[in-house]
Amino acid sequence: MLFPGKYQRLSLPAIRNTVQVSFALFLLYLGWRFWLFVRYFETSGATPLVSRPAGVEGFLPISALMAFRYWVKTGVFDPIHPAGLAIFLAIVLTAFLYKKAFCSWLCPIGTLSEELARLGERLLGGQLSLPRWLDLPLMGLKYLVLGFFIKVIYWDMPVTAVGAFLNSPYNMVADVKMLRFFLDLSLTAVVVLLLLALLSFLIRHFWCRYLCPYGALLGLVSLLSPFKVTRQEALCTGCGRCDQVCPGNIRVSAARRVSSVECSACLNCLHHCPRQGALALQEPFARLALPPLVFPLLFTGTFFFLLAVARLTGNWATVLSPADYMYLIPRAAFFGH
Ligand code: SF4
Ligand code: SF4
Repeated sequence: MLFPGKYQRLSLPAIRNTVQVSFALFLLYLGWRFWLFVRYFETSGATPLVSRPAGVEGFLPISALMAFRYWVKTGVFDPIHPAGLAIFLAIVLTAFLYKKAFCSWLCPIGTLSEELARLGERLLGGQLSLPRWLDLPLMGLKYLVLGFFIKVIYWDMPVTAVGAFLNSPYNMVADVKMLRFFLDLSLTAVVVLLLLALLSFLIRHFWCRYLCPYGALLGLVSLLSPFKVTRQEALCTGCGRCDQVCPGNIRVSAARRVSSVECSACLNCLHHCPRQGALALQEPFARLALPPLVFPLLFTGTFFFLLAVARLTGNWATVLSPADYMYLIPRAAFFGH
Protein backbone atom coordinates (compact mmCIF):
# COMPACT_ATOMS: atom_id res chain seq x y z
CA MET A 1 0.00 0.00 0.00
CA LEU A 2 1.33 3.45 -0.95
CA PHE A 3 0.47 5.13 2.36
CA PRO A 4 0.12 2.78 5.34
CA GLY A 5 -2.80 3.28 7.75
CA LYS A 6 -0.68 4.61 10.61
CA TYR A 7 0.79 7.33 8.42
CA GLN A 8 -2.71 8.34 7.20
CA ARG A 9 -3.92 8.49 10.79
CA LEU A 10 -1.15 10.87 11.80
CA SER A 11 -1.32 13.11 8.81
CA LEU A 12 -4.76 13.64 7.25
CA PRO A 13 -6.24 16.44 9.43
CA ALA A 14 -2.85 18.12 9.77
CA ILE A 15 -2.37 18.08 6.00
CA ARG A 16 -5.85 19.45 5.38
CA ASN A 17 -5.38 22.19 7.94
CA THR A 18 -2.01 23.11 6.43
CA VAL A 19 -3.50 23.28 2.92
CA GLN A 20 -6.43 25.39 4.15
CA VAL A 21 -4.33 27.86 6.14
CA SER A 22 -1.67 28.14 3.41
CA PHE A 23 -4.29 28.88 0.78
CA ALA A 24 -6.05 31.44 3.03
CA LEU A 25 -2.69 33.17 3.64
CA PHE A 26 -2.00 33.14 -0.09
CA LEU A 27 -5.37 34.82 -0.70
CA LEU A 28 -4.55 37.45 1.93
CA TYR A 29 -1.30 38.08 0.08
CA LEU A 30 -3.24 38.46 -3.19
CA GLY A 31 -5.60 40.91 -1.45
CA TRP A 32 -2.65 42.95 -0.21
CA ARG A 33 -1.09 43.04 -3.73
CA PHE A 34 -4.44 44.09 -5.16
CA TRP A 35 -4.75 46.87 -2.58
CA LEU A 36 -1.30 48.16 -3.64
CA PHE A 37 -2.43 48.00 -7.27
CA VAL A 38 -5.63 49.97 -6.56
CA ARG A 39 -3.78 52.52 -4.39
CA TYR A 40 -1.56 53.44 -7.34
CA PHE A 41 -4.59 54.53 -9.37
CA GLU A 42 -6.43 56.10 -6.44
CA THR A 43 -3.42 58.30 -5.72
CA SER A 44 -2.88 59.18 -9.40
CA GLY A 45 0.44 57.36 -9.44
CA ALA A 46 1.86 58.67 -6.13
CA THR A 47 2.46 55.09 -4.86
CA PRO A 48 4.45 52.36 -6.65
CA LEU A 49 2.61 50.37 -9.33
CA VAL A 50 2.47 46.61 -8.76
CA SER A 51 1.10 44.04 -11.20
CA ARG A 52 -2.58 43.20 -10.79
CA PRO A 53 -3.15 39.75 -9.18
CA ALA A 54 -5.86 38.33 -11.45
CA GLY A 55 -6.72 35.66 -8.83
CA VAL A 56 -8.81 38.23 -6.91
CA GLU A 57 -11.47 37.68 -9.57
CA GLY A 58 -12.27 34.42 -7.79
CA PHE A 59 -14.24 36.60 -5.38
CA LEU A 60 -16.67 37.64 -8.13
CA PRO A 61 -18.95 34.58 -8.42
CA ILE A 62 -21.95 36.48 -9.83
CA SER A 63 -19.86 38.01 -12.60
CA ALA A 64 -18.45 34.52 -13.27
CA LEU A 65 -21.96 33.02 -13.48
CA MET A 66 -22.86 35.66 -16.07
CA ALA A 67 -19.58 35.16 -17.94
CA PHE A 68 -20.26 31.40 -18.01
CA ARG A 69 -23.64 31.92 -19.63
CA TYR A 70 -22.19 34.39 -22.13
CA TRP A 71 -19.38 31.96 -22.99
CA VAL A 72 -21.77 29.04 -23.54
CA LYS A 73 -24.13 31.17 -25.69
CA THR A 74 -21.60 33.13 -27.75
CA GLY A 75 -18.29 31.28 -27.43
CA VAL A 76 -16.66 34.48 -26.10
CA PHE A 77 -14.56 33.90 -22.98
CA ASP A 78 -15.02 37.01 -20.83
CA PRO A 79 -12.00 39.25 -21.53
CA ILE A 80 -12.74 41.60 -18.57
CA HIS A 81 -12.50 39.04 -15.74
CA PRO A 82 -11.20 35.89 -17.48
CA ALA A 83 -9.53 34.60 -14.31
CA GLY A 84 -12.89 34.81 -12.50
CA LEU A 85 -14.49 32.54 -15.10
CA ALA A 86 -11.46 30.22 -15.14
CA ILE A 87 -11.55 29.84 -11.35
CA PHE A 88 -15.33 29.23 -11.43
CA LEU A 89 -14.87 26.52 -14.07
CA ALA A 90 -12.00 24.92 -12.13
CA ILE A 91 -14.10 24.81 -8.94
CA VAL A 92 -17.14 23.31 -10.71
CA LEU A 93 -15.08 20.80 -12.73
CA THR A 94 -13.24 19.59 -9.63
CA ALA A 95 -16.63 19.12 -7.91
CA PHE A 96 -17.54 16.69 -10.73
CA LEU A 97 -14.47 14.64 -9.90
CA TYR A 98 -13.79 15.14 -6.19
CA LYS A 99 -17.12 16.09 -4.58
CA LYS A 100 -17.20 19.38 -2.68
CA ALA A 101 -13.48 19.09 -1.88
CA PHE A 102 -13.08 22.80 -2.67
CA CYS A 103 -15.27 23.62 0.38
CA SER A 104 -13.20 21.70 2.90
CA TRP A 105 -9.71 21.96 1.39
CA LEU A 106 -9.42 25.42 -0.18
CA CYS A 107 -12.39 27.75 0.39
CA PRO A 108 -11.32 30.54 2.78
CA ILE A 109 -14.86 30.89 4.16
CA GLY A 110 -14.90 27.15 4.90
CA THR A 111 -11.55 27.52 6.65
CA LEU A 112 -12.83 30.45 8.72
CA SER A 113 -16.01 28.51 9.59
CA GLU A 114 -13.93 25.56 10.77
CA GLU A 115 -11.67 27.75 12.89
CA LEU A 116 -14.73 29.38 14.49
CA ALA A 117 -16.23 25.93 15.09
CA ARG A 118 -12.99 24.77 16.72
CA LEU A 119 -13.00 27.85 18.94
CA GLY A 120 -16.65 27.27 19.84
CA GLU A 121 -15.92 23.66 20.78
CA ARG A 122 -12.94 24.68 22.88
CA LEU A 123 -14.67 27.52 24.73
CA LEU A 124 -18.19 26.12 25.02
CA GLY A 125 -17.35 22.42 25.09
CA GLY A 126 -19.37 21.79 21.92
CA GLN A 127 -21.59 23.34 19.28
CA LEU A 128 -25.35 23.43 18.90
CA SER A 129 -27.14 21.05 16.56
CA LEU A 130 -30.42 22.42 15.30
CA PRO A 131 -33.46 20.12 15.58
CA ARG A 132 -34.40 18.34 12.34
CA TRP A 133 -37.60 20.41 11.88
CA LEU A 134 -35.48 23.59 11.75
CA ASP A 135 -32.35 22.15 10.15
CA LEU A 136 -34.10 20.84 7.02
CA PRO A 137 -35.93 24.04 5.97
CA LEU A 138 -32.84 26.13 6.76
CA MET A 139 -30.76 23.86 4.50
CA GLY A 140 -33.14 24.81 1.70
CA LEU A 141 -32.18 28.48 1.97
CA LYS A 142 -28.94 28.10 0.04
CA TYR A 143 -30.82 26.47 -2.85
CA LEU A 144 -33.29 29.35 -2.87
CA VAL A 145 -30.41 31.85 -3.12
CA LEU A 146 -28.78 29.77 -5.89
CA GLY A 147 -32.13 29.38 -7.68
CA PHE A 148 -32.68 33.13 -7.52
CA PHE A 149 -29.34 33.90 -9.20
CA ILE A 150 -29.82 31.19 -11.84
CA LYS A 151 -33.35 32.40 -12.60
CA VAL A 152 -32.26 36.04 -13.00
CA ILE A 153 -29.07 35.31 -14.99
CA TYR A 154 -30.18 32.31 -17.07
CA TRP A 155 -33.88 32.96 -17.43
CA ASP A 156 -34.83 36.62 -16.99
CA MET A 157 -31.85 38.32 -18.65
CA PRO A 158 -31.46 38.17 -22.44
CA VAL A 159 -27.93 37.26 -23.48
CA THR A 160 -27.42 40.79 -24.87
CA ALA A 161 -28.13 42.19 -21.39
CA VAL A 162 -25.61 39.75 -19.90
CA GLY A 163 -23.02 40.96 -22.44
CA ALA A 164 -23.85 44.59 -21.64
CA PHE A 165 -23.37 43.92 -17.92
CA LEU A 166 -20.03 42.17 -18.48
CA ASN A 167 -18.76 45.16 -20.47
CA SER A 168 -20.17 47.79 -18.12
CA PRO A 169 -17.86 50.03 -16.05
CA TYR A 170 -19.57 48.58 -12.95
CA ASN A 171 -18.39 45.06 -13.77
CA MET A 172 -14.95 46.31 -14.80
CA VAL A 173 -14.39 47.62 -11.27
CA ALA A 174 -16.43 44.95 -9.43
CA ASP A 175 -13.18 43.69 -7.86
CA VAL A 176 -12.27 47.21 -6.73
CA LYS A 177 -15.74 47.64 -5.25
CA MET A 178 -15.37 44.32 -3.43
CA LEU A 179 -12.05 45.48 -1.96
CA ARG A 180 -13.56 48.81 -0.90
CA PHE A 181 -16.54 46.99 0.64
CA PHE A 182 -14.24 45.06 2.97
CA LEU A 183 -11.90 47.97 3.70
CA ASP A 184 -14.68 50.50 4.45
CA LEU A 185 -17.23 48.27 6.14
CA SER A 186 -20.54 49.99 6.85
CA LEU A 187 -22.18 49.53 10.25
CA THR A 188 -24.78 47.22 8.67
CA ALA A 189 -22.05 45.08 7.09
CA VAL A 190 -20.17 44.86 10.41
CA VAL A 191 -23.35 43.75 12.22
CA VAL A 192 -24.18 41.14 9.55
CA LEU A 193 -20.62 39.75 9.48
CA LEU A 194 -20.44 39.60 13.27
CA LEU A 195 -23.81 37.86 13.40
CA LEU A 196 -22.63 35.26 10.84
CA ALA A 197 -19.40 34.76 12.81
CA LEU A 198 -21.37 34.30 16.03
CA LEU A 199 -23.71 31.79 14.37
CA SER A 200 -20.70 29.86 12.97
CA PHE A 201 -19.19 29.91 16.47
CA LEU A 202 -22.36 28.43 17.96
CA ILE A 203 -23.60 26.21 15.10
CA ARG A 204 -21.14 24.15 13.10
CA HIS A 205 -20.68 25.36 9.51
CA PHE A 206 -23.67 27.69 9.73
CA TRP A 207 -22.79 29.64 6.58
CA CYS A 208 -21.79 26.59 4.50
CA ARG A 209 -24.71 24.42 5.61
CA TYR A 210 -27.51 26.95 5.35
CA LEU A 211 -26.58 29.95 3.23
CA CYS A 212 -23.74 29.47 0.73
CA PRO A 213 -25.13 29.29 -2.85
CA TYR A 214 -21.70 28.29 -4.20
CA GLY A 215 -21.70 25.25 -1.88
CA ALA A 216 -25.26 24.46 -2.99
CA LEU A 217 -24.15 24.39 -6.63
CA LEU A 218 -21.08 22.27 -5.86
CA GLY A 219 -23.19 19.87 -3.77
CA LEU A 220 -25.54 19.26 -6.72
CA VAL A 221 -22.62 18.79 -9.12
CA SER A 222 -20.88 16.48 -6.62
CA LEU A 223 -23.71 13.93 -6.94
CA LEU A 224 -21.95 12.87 -10.15
CA SER A 225 -18.53 12.39 -8.52
CA PRO A 226 -17.28 8.82 -9.03
CA PHE A 227 -15.39 8.51 -5.73
CA LYS A 228 -17.51 8.49 -2.59
CA VAL A 229 -17.03 7.43 1.00
CA THR A 230 -18.07 3.78 1.07
CA ARG A 231 -18.67 1.67 4.20
CA GLN A 232 -17.94 -2.03 4.43
CA GLU A 233 -20.71 -3.36 6.61
CA ALA A 234 -18.76 -6.52 7.39
CA LEU A 235 -15.94 -4.50 8.98
CA CYS A 236 -17.99 -1.73 10.61
CA THR A 237 -18.56 -2.09 14.36
CA GLY A 238 -21.30 0.58 14.44
CA CYS A 239 -19.36 2.68 16.94
CA GLY A 240 -20.69 5.92 15.36
CA ARG A 241 -17.35 7.77 15.52
CA CYS A 242 -17.71 8.74 11.84
CA ASP A 243 -21.09 10.37 12.54
CA GLN A 244 -19.66 12.41 15.41
CA VAL A 245 -16.82 13.91 13.37
CA CYS A 246 -18.74 14.59 10.15
CA PRO A 247 -19.11 18.36 9.59
CA GLY A 248 -22.01 17.66 7.25
CA ASN A 249 -23.99 15.87 10.01
CA ILE A 250 -24.21 12.82 7.75
CA ARG A 251 -25.04 9.44 9.27
CA VAL A 252 -22.06 7.71 7.73
CA SER A 253 -22.55 4.68 10.01
CA ALA A 254 -25.94 4.00 8.40
CA ALA A 255 -24.89 4.53 4.77
CA ARG A 256 -23.41 2.02 2.39
CA ARG A 257 -22.19 4.80 0.14
CA VAL A 258 -22.26 8.50 1.13
CA SER A 259 -24.04 10.29 -1.72
CA SER A 260 -25.18 13.27 0.33
CA VAL A 261 -24.82 16.76 -1.18
CA GLU A 262 -23.46 17.79 2.22
CA CYS A 263 -20.33 15.62 1.96
CA SER A 264 -17.37 17.93 1.43
CA ALA A 265 -14.79 15.13 1.18
CA CYS A 266 -13.02 16.36 4.30
CA LEU A 267 -12.09 12.70 5.04
CA ASN A 268 -12.62 13.18 8.80
CA CYS A 269 -14.66 9.97 8.89
CA LEU A 270 -11.89 7.95 7.27
CA HIS A 271 -9.31 9.37 9.62
CA HIS A 272 -11.28 8.73 12.80
CA CYS A 273 -12.75 5.32 11.97
CA PRO A 274 -11.12 2.83 14.35
CA ARG A 275 -11.62 -0.16 12.04
CA GLN A 276 -9.04 -0.42 9.30
CA GLY A 277 -10.80 -0.76 5.93
CA ALA A 278 -14.35 -0.09 7.20
CA LEU A 279 -14.43 3.19 5.27
CA ALA A 280 -12.79 3.90 1.92
CA LEU A 281 -13.05 6.28 -1.00
CA GLN A 282 -14.39 4.07 -3.76
CA GLU A 283 -15.81 4.30 -7.27
CA PRO A 284 -19.36 2.96 -7.90
CA PHE A 285 -18.24 -0.61 -8.62
CA ALA A 286 -16.16 -0.72 -5.40
CA ARG A 287 -13.17 -2.20 -7.23
CA LEU A 288 -10.77 0.68 -6.66
CA ALA A 289 -10.08 2.42 -3.34
CA LEU A 290 -8.32 5.75 -3.54
CA PRO A 291 -5.71 6.13 -0.74
CA PRO A 292 -6.90 9.10 1.36
CA LEU A 293 -3.62 10.96 0.98
CA VAL A 294 -3.75 10.65 -2.81
CA PHE A 295 -7.17 12.31 -2.89
CA PRO A 296 -6.00 15.84 -1.86
CA LEU A 297 -3.02 15.52 -4.19
CA LEU A 298 -5.34 14.72 -7.10
CA PHE A 299 -7.84 17.42 -6.16
CA THR A 300 -5.35 20.28 -5.65
CA GLY A 301 -3.27 19.06 -8.62
CA THR A 302 -6.31 19.13 -10.93
CA PHE A 303 -7.46 22.51 -9.59
CA PHE A 304 -4.13 24.27 -10.11
CA PHE A 305 -3.55 22.46 -13.41
CA LEU A 306 -6.83 23.90 -14.75
CA LEU A 307 -5.77 27.40 -13.66
CA ALA A 308 -2.40 26.87 -15.38
CA VAL A 309 -4.23 25.86 -18.57
CA ALA A 310 -6.26 29.09 -18.39
CA ARG A 311 -3.04 31.06 -18.01
CA LEU A 312 -1.23 29.25 -20.84
CA THR A 313 -4.18 29.64 -23.22
CA GLY A 314 -4.41 33.40 -22.62
CA ASN A 315 -7.60 33.21 -20.53
CA TRP A 316 -6.25 34.70 -17.33
CA ALA A 317 -5.17 38.35 -17.62
CA THR A 318 -7.73 41.08 -18.25
CA VAL A 319 -7.69 43.14 -21.44
CA LEU A 320 -8.07 46.32 -19.39
CA SER A 321 -4.94 48.47 -19.60
CA PRO A 322 -3.34 50.74 -16.96
CA ALA A 323 -4.86 53.69 -18.87
CA ASP A 324 -8.32 52.10 -18.49
CA TYR A 325 -7.76 51.63 -14.77
CA MET A 326 -6.52 55.21 -14.41
CA TYR A 327 -9.94 56.30 -15.68
CA LEU A 328 -12.05 53.64 -13.92
CA ILE A 329 -10.63 53.22 -10.40
CA PRO A 330 -10.90 56.84 -9.16
CA ARG A 331 -14.55 56.77 -10.34
CA ALA A 332 -15.35 53.27 -9.02
CA ALA A 333 -17.66 54.53 -6.25
CA PHE A 334 -19.92 56.25 -8.80
CA PHE A 335 -20.51 53.24 -11.06
CA GLY A 336 -23.75 51.49 -10.21
CA HIS A 337 -25.37 54.53 -8.63
S1 SF4 B 1 -19.03 11.91 5.07
FE1 SF4 B 1 -16.88 11.88 5.71
S2 SF4 B 1 -15.83 12.97 4.05
FE2 SF4 B 1 -18.01 13.47 3.85
S3 SF4 B 1 -18.24 15.38 5.01
FE3 SF4 B 1 -18.72 13.67 6.42
S4 SF4 B 1 -16.76 13.27 7.46
FE4 SF4 B 1 -16.28 14.49 5.65
S1 SF4 C 1 -16.35 4.92 12.58
FE1 SF4 C 1 -15.95 3.12 11.26
S2 SF4 C 1 -16.48 1.37 12.54
FE2 SF4 C 1 -17.37 3.15 13.54
S3 SF4 C 1 -19.50 3.28 12.70
FE3 SF4 C 1 -18.21 4.55 11.36
S4 SF4 C 1 -17.58 3.18 9.71
FE4 SF4 C 1 -18.32 1.85 11.38
